[in-house]
Amino acid sequence: MELQEKITILSGAARYDASCASSGSNREGSAGGTGNTSQGGICHSWADDGRCISLLKILLSNDCRYDCAYCVNRSSSPVPRASFTAREVVDLTMEFYRRNYIEGLFLSSAVNVSPDHTMEAMVRVAEILRNEERFGGYIHLKIIPGSSPELVRRAGLAADRISVNIELPSSESLQRLAPQKKKEAILAPMKLIGAEAGASLVERRKSRKAPRFAPAGQSTQMIIGASPETDLQILRLSQGLYSRMNLKRVYYSAFVPVNSDNRLPVLSAPPLLREHRLYQADWLLRFYGFSAEEILSDDAPNLDESFDPKTAWALRHPEFFPVEVNRASYATLLRVPGIGVTSARRIIAARRFAPVTPEGMKKIGVVMKRAKYFITCSGRPFERVDHQPARLRQRLLLGDGSEAKLPRQLVLPGMG
Ligand code: SF4
Repeated sequence: MELQEKITILSGAARYDASCASSGSNREGSAGGTGNTSQGGICHSWADDGRCISLLKILLSNDCRYDCAYCVNRSSSPVPRASFTAREVVDLTMEFYRRNYIEGLFLSSAVNVSPDHTMEAMVRVAEILRNEERFGGYIHLKIIPGSSPELVRRAGLAADRISVNIELPSSESLQRLAPQKKKEAILAPMKLIGAEAGASLVERRKSRKAPRFAPAGQSTQMIIGASPETDLQILRLSQGLYSRMNLKRVYYSAFVPVNSDNRLPVLSAPPLLREHRLYQADWLLRFYGFSAEEILSDDAPNLDESFDPKTAWALRHPEFFPVEVNRASYATLLRVPGIGVTSARRIIAARRFAPVTPEGMKKIGVVMKRAKYFITCSGRPFERVDHQPARLRQRLLLGDGSEAKLPRQLVLPGMG
């Protein structure tokens, strides 16, 4: 098969993985080496700080021996198959980098022959790039569940980020839709990566020459809407992954039906709004001090489609409001809809010198069209509104046009 044909097949297949953001890596180019992860460029992906970065996003192979119900590359799917050699991926990466098309590589793969066979080839790509080509750019490697611990270690030493896709939010759904994948085979490398990354940090505190292990951390991806789990179950799982596995990011990928299979739900459209709400709730878990059980409950286990999760929480907790912005703690300010991490910090800093005024709040970046219903400023409310939750809910719905905007992102189920 011609190389161009392989590129068409395997780059097209790689778009099914959403977990390729490259945040958190700051490898610098070395004298005589090529590339670094610190520079911006054409956009394919987003870093944590909002920077656009371009990656060569490709599969090593789409010739899978597994048959996951939701995946376009499952063994029973009639798609054209192709596989790269390690050297072909290395050459492509270097060619694209030299032409300034990309800043890094995101390499995933179907399970070709066996997990170890596939993982060995992927690790070789990263090792050749680092050791022979002296490539200093960003590398994200997907770990194939079931790979040996030694290959996972080698992957972590060569790549900036590594990720294991958790795929589905429960072992029951995994068993039903991806029976060849085992929960233990997914969780074991996650635990190993967390432990190795922690040990590497300790060693690097003693010596800057100690090797770095996946310095941009590990991430995972979960398919949303292919199985019956509630948002509460999903957020509890994410919460556990962040606290126990030290994950950098969980990516949520709205289920898009690409196969006909009676184990899959029939959806009129991919659940993009649900995916969007889960990302917002995930943000509350990571940066706003919320727990999954505060965002949702067993009685109301799914996110409100009409409001972002923080506004929905505020509407359920009228006893918490209004918050006086000139006295409230940082943690309390973070609970106010319309006040984010940056604006909460700025309020705390500004009021050291003088009380914050309504005009000052706007300049600080507070989204007043939401916040005004929940705050007072030096004792004065911003809006004389009826704070009865049903009326406030109606007022917010009518007054906040941004809620009508739906996310444009469209992603498909994950690989590996
Ligand atoms: S999700 Fe991964 S393992 Fe499952 S069929 Fe697709 S490529 Fe193969």
